[in-house]
Amino acid sequence: MIRATISQLVQMTQGELLTGNPAAEIKGVSTDSRAGISGRLFVPLVGERFDGHDFLTQAISQGAVATLWQTNRPLPEALDPRVAVIGVEDTLLALQQLAKSYRQTLQLSLIGVTGSNGKTSTKDLIAAVLAERFKVQKTQGNLNNHIGLPLMVLALEPDTDVAVLEMGMSGIGEIALLADIAAPEIGVITNIGEAHIEYLGSRERIADAKFELIERLPDSGLALLYGDEPLLRALREKVPCEVEWFGFGESNDVRAVEVRSLGLEGTVFRLEGDHSEYHVPIPGRHQVGNALATVAIARRLGMTKEEIASGLSKASLSAMRMEVKKRAAGGYVVNDAYNASPTSMKAALRMLSETPDTDFKVAVIGDMLELGAVAREMHYEVGHLAGELAIDLLVTVGQHAGDIAEGALAAGLAKEQIFVADSKQRAIDFINRTTSTKRQPVILVKASRGMKMEEVVTGLLA
Ligand code: ATP
Ligand code: MG
Repeated sequence: MIRATISQLVQMTQGELLTGNPAAEIKGVSTDSRAGISGRLFVPLVGERFDGHDFLTQAISQGAVATLWQTNRPLPEALDPRVAVIGVEDTLLALQQLAKSYRQTLQLSLIGVTGSNGKTSTKDLIAAVLAERFKVQKTQGNLNNHIGLPLMVLALEPDTDVAVLEMGMSGIGEIALLADIAAPEIGVITNIGEAHIEYLGSRERIADAKFELIERLPDSGLALLYGDEPLLRALREKVPCEVEWFGFGESNDVRAVEVRSLGLEGTVFRLEGDHSEYHVPIPGRHQVGNALATVAIARRLGMTKEEIASGLSKASLSAMRMEVKKRAAGGYVVNDAYNASPTSMKAALRMLSETPDTDFKVAVIGDMLELGAVAREMHYEVGHLAGELAIDLLVTVGQHAGDIAEGALAAGLAKEQIFVADSKQRAIDFINRTTSTKRQPVILVKASRGMKMEEVVTGLLA
């Protein structure tokens, strides 16, 4: 993490020292006054509901040694004289500026990962594989936005070899900001889906927004693009450096062949032109795409086939992402309640339908949020796919529960196979009752974050 003197911080943030000793030192930066701030610089951010400036006393009592301070706020009285205060016009901009300046002092290789779905998964896979050879740091959890990414940059150690950072967005210009701060030399786009279509209007615009990362790569850099997505192929001209396409289609440079699902145990595949077998121990065929990007990066960094296969086989995802849990009542629950979009929902349903060794496949699906005008249609489509895939039981929850059910009916699922639950508890009770006679049910639970579907998971595991 960043270590700097107050006078260096003043320079890096383009601020002014209001009080305190310029020779004092900080180790690390935090925006949270409650914990883990000892010895650090406190950055009080101004949010919709809270103003970090109100928490300075708490930050100091927790050990903060310096703080940024927006100069349009009066300085607090009776301030501990040992605490340095750096005045800046805007604390968020100063945080970003600080991260950008710190990044320029680091020698490491930086990989930026964006895409509509699979950023966190791909980031975790890349880090797992590269850790076989290098000192790697990665984005913690999902801290991928205009606040999280600068904090992740500031957490990088000078002796780290490779950093893998997730970059999220909900509109034009956001990835550009993150890429300007992090200055990646390798950029990955995992796919283009419908997430945030509400703000961006079309999939083309989403592709353009993700491409802000690729456009900012240096000419010595490497772009890894999902080659089965025509919208990305169409932007080929805008790539300023070497590009490798990954995917399943024939025209990809890094291509998976002989893909075989092991259900909840993940997927195995071979690479075209390579006899070794690779195992991704995470359910869902789409993880193979993420693994392909990982393989391409590992090769670029000089890793051997053996190292790559070994790293992949040890990969695991963060909580609530395809997390497989054994039920006391029999069978398994796949907790994918972290988030959902139409693309990831369909991918998860396919995974469920491919799961071997089960006599009963249940999909519990809640709303996908932020879809705007296309919400009804997208939920209908998801239901339709559940019908086409002949899922044994479809349970729907939320405002769009009816739309999903309609799609499933239209695709041939019987009425008795569909349950529109008017609450999560009803869903839980119904599933627990229905599966009690089954030998090995597999129950997929998925919706957008705001639906809190982990409550259903808890109910099914109890
Ligand atoms: P967020 O925008 O919430 O940060 P993310 O892009 O980080 O999401 P993940 O958390 O990795 O994505 O995965 C979200 C969902 O998308 C999961 O259900 C996962 O199984 C699915 N998913 C992962 N990779 C892909 C992919 N390449 N294509 C489609 N779906 C995917
Ligand atoms: Mg993520």
